[in-house]
Amino acid sequence: MEDKPAKNLSGEKIERLNPKEVLCTEQHPDAELIEISVKMRKTPGVFTNVVKTLYERRVKLFSGFHTVSREGDTVLIGAFIDISNSDAQARDIVKYLESIEGVLEVNFSEKGFNGLMIDNLHFPLLVSGERSFTFRVETFGRIVESLYEKFGTGAAVVLYQMGVSAGEDKVKNVLNKHRMSKLDVLKLILAERTAKGWCIAEVVDFNSEGATLIVGELFECLPFKGKKGEAFSQFFRGYLAGVFEHVLNTSVSVVEAECIAKGDPACKFIVKARR
Ligand SMILES: [Zn+2]
Repeated sequence: MEDKPAKNLSGEKIERLNPKEVLCTEQHPDAELIEISVKMRKTPGVFTNVVKTLYERRVKLFSGFHTVSREGDTVLIGAFIDISNSDAQARDIVKYLESIEGVLEVNFSEKGFNGLMIDNLHFPLLVSGERSFTFRVETFGRIVESLYEKFGTGAAVVLYQMGVSAGEDKVKNVLNKHRMSKLDVLKLILAERTAKGWCIAEVVDFNSEGATLIVGELFECLPFKGKKGEAFSQFFRGYLAGVFEHVLNTSVSVVEAECIAKGDPACKFIVKARR
């Protein structure tokens, strides 16, 4: 696996990535929002015709998603749309969409909570085809805080062990799906942490004796930014231990040398093989 950092057209490394929204809610005081879910064949022109039909009916697109099925034969789009300027009612728009050749299924929802639309047409939430759920970073922070309140330093052990299990699980999962070198397994897992919103991790040093990682925006330490006197990560520290034990084929120690919780610009983890 080749290292290809995200770059712009000038070849410069992108300093700040754009955020990624998971479709969940939409609210707009001046809009008449409805939600649609349209499944269609993945044949040329179908998607364009769907968008064209909405445009012709003066429907405005708000947030949405576009997913190609794992089999590659169908496309699903889910979106909140504003029909306040349209000449058609929600049911008519659904009929127009259904009449397009290649459209297989159209569902819609008009149910709102005082102008707040919540996606109620899609379940389960899949990430890379795997059942997932989301947690607010702040909520995770509250959970960690209450663990420390209840169990004192014992909480650190629990969180670390949770991380080790998650890391070991991840390595096994990756090895089941892909044939690749151990270093590539590490790179894939770290790249996926960014895609899944955990952090932006960079390996700055790697050899058979260990590694150094700079980890930016780590979800675990973010709620405690600048609020602690010492490094705060236990879960991710354990996660790295679980991953590196497989990558280096030996037990490892992981130390968080720098941490945003104690005012450093990023969290820094030092992994050492125990030989
Ligand atoms: Zn940290």
